[in-house]
Amino acid sequence: MGYFRSAIDAMTGYVPGEQPAPGTKIIKLNTNENPYPPSPQVANALQTLNIDELRRYPDPSATMFRQAVSDALQVPADWVIVGNGSDDILNLLVRACAESRDRQVVYPTPTYVLYKTLSAMQTADVVEIPYAQNFQLPLDALIAANGAITFVASPNSPSGHIVPLDDLRTLAKNVSGIVVIDEAYVDFAEFSALPLVHEFENVVVLRTLSKGYALAGLRMGFGIANPKLLAGLFKVKDSYNVDAIAIALGTAAMRDQTYKNARAEQVKASREKLSSDLKHLGFSVLKSQGNFVLATPGSKPAEFLYLALKERGILVRYFNQPGLADKLRISIGTEAENSILIEVLASLLNG
Ligand SMILES: *Cc1c(COP(=O)(O)O)cnc(C)c1O
Repeated sequence: MGYFRSAIDAMTGYVPGEQPAPGTKIIKLNTNENPYPPSPQVANALQTLNIDELRRYPDPSATMFRQAVSDALQVPADWVIVGNGSDDILNLLVRACAESRDRQVVYPTPTYVLYKTLSAMQTADVVEIPYAQNFQLPLDALIAANGAITFVASPNSPSGHIVPLDDLRTLAKNVSGIVVIDEAYVDFAEFSALPLVHEFENVVVLRTLSKGYALAGLRMGFGIANPKLLAGLFKVKDSYNVDAIAIALGTAAMRDQTYKNARAEQVKASREKLSSDLKHLGFSVLKSQGNFVLATPGSKPAEFLYLALKERGILVRYFNQPGLADKLRISIGTEAENSILIEVLASLLNG
């Protein structure tokens, strides 16, 4: 007998983007982190943290943070569940809802690879439905599959496109399971699907502090849904899934929407500039609503450029998968980082 369940032996673990050692001098445009620091209020909360609080277990429902979300997003605090990153909530959803055969996990591809990894761990059957060339939501096939969970990332990664609310409504109305709208990148987008949680009991909207709030290292995410739906997730959640420091710092970040929005505007302006600079270098670039762009080089192969950039200290994301192998996903950096990227790309393409 092997040590592990056969599903674990058979699956491939999730491979996150490379994280160079702290202090390494590198331009890191591979995991969609925010190029700017978090709100000064977060530094302040860290400095004034009462160390004696760490003696005790943290608040299992992160009340303070849920109240901050409630105030910022105008949803009742009991419509919020908090996770150790939104990945934690994705995990809760899969564990609570999915298994093999008639409780399957459904999502359009290409998308966030973790949906597949979590489903494999749970031994849940997966139905992957490819997006058409124009990234219209494949509604008929998603509805026909009728998942116990249907994941839709919007804005989606790695494509950067956003899904129209009416498509999400049609989906939510016509499936009997939960529709999870993963809004990790919503802070850089034109609109949110948040109103749908009031229209449909089976819709969960997921948010994270990792991207818009520049707190990927803190591990803080949350879901918003009808309390009837959240009740099942609370049963599955670790009691202390978010620690006292994350609750305190996350609350400070959530209470400073002005700072977050101002930084998001900077990133969006840089995204438009980077897109146009890449086009001048012969790339085709999809219109993005995230803090990254998906770009197809015109002349040299994407994999060659990925490796050549890496050699020169610039990390971007390359997915060696059908439909993506000719593309690079490039996170939006600071203006200075983006300019260096463009310079290096220019020399690689003309060299
Ligand atoms: C980054 C990302 C997440 C995960 O965020 P964490 O809160 O850091 O766990 C979830 N979904 C998508 C689509 C992402 O890109």
